[in-house]
Amino acid sequence: MAKEVPVNPFNSPLVPILLSEKDTLDFRCYKGISCYNACCKQADITLSPYDVIRLKKRLGMTSTEFLKQYTVPFEMDAHGMPGIKMKTQNDQPVCLMMSEEGCSVYTDRPSACRYYPVGLMAMRAQNSPDDQKHYFLVKEDHCHGHDAGGKTQTIAEYRAEQGVAEYDDANREWYQIILKKRSSGMTVGAPSATSFHLFFMVSFDIDRFREFVTASNFRKLYVLDDNEFDAIMDDDYTLMRFGLRFLKQVFYGEMTIPTNKEAVTKRFEERKDIFAARHQAEVAAEKDKDDRYGDLD
Ligand code: SF4
Ligand code: SF4
Repeated sequence: MAKEVPVNPFNSPLVPILLSEKDTLDFRCYKGISCYNACCKQADITLSPYDVIRLKKRLGMTSTEFLKQYTVPFEMDAHGMPGIKMKTQNDQPVCLMMSEEGCSVYTDRPSACRYYPVGLMAMRAQNSPDDQKHYFLVKEDHCHGHDAGGKTQTIAEYRAEQGVAEYDDANREWYQIILKKRSSGMTVGAPSATSFHLFFMVSFDIDRFREFVTASNFRKLYVLDDNEFDAIMDDDYTLMRFGLRFLKQVFYGEMTIPTNKEAVTKRFEERKDIFAARHQAEVAAEKDKDDRYGDLD
């Protein structure tokens, strides 16, 4: 059932009504519509880990090459949680994947492109283990699909038509990691720069993460049997799922991957001075940031 949310005072194109999967939208997008490609000329596309895997495979390149050529970094929150967006052409908001015929990577287009003009809002109440999903509409002047008529669908039908379920399923644990950080707020505090570095690598640079897991130190610290190791080496998606388990361990101390306790203790002893110096530098940097910006989270 649609539910009113407070009107956004900033003249946003977001329609201030929360929708469920049973609610309907009147929207038709087709080749030949007067605004064809207009959305891709105003692109502001945030990418998820599964988007990167699909696109880098489609383009036949490594994730590292894809990041360099096609993305720009941004901070997802006031703590500096790293995210990426699609790069656009020469400082214009025109997507690099757009051609006159439409999207050049259509069958592998990112989740945000599939959803448009529907937005997904996942929320988690503080200390709640469950996420709540809501949807909303985006109505922008350049998009005439809302007035094209002749097609009414439920949000569930629209999602099925656009193939978003596969993307949502693949990215679910990743969103949960982000939501948990947001809902925990200051009780967890700002993750370290090293945690953010690992988050970026696992989330977006899966080929670099593969090299990281292959390094001999990783298998000394984490217990991985040969079958599991072969499976994650063979397949980006399986590696991504493993990476998300690893991130839960790094961010929240969840023991999702068994560790070799002796090796962990030895490594800590060898590096405790470095860890202490790094911690002090991060505390000082965080204090400096708070002094300048306050707590915006
Ligand atoms: S990836 Fe494709 S659908 Fe998405 S903005 Fe770019 S051209 Fe448009
Ligand atoms: S109707 Fe909207 S989504 Fe479709 S091409 Fe036009 S601007 Fe893009």
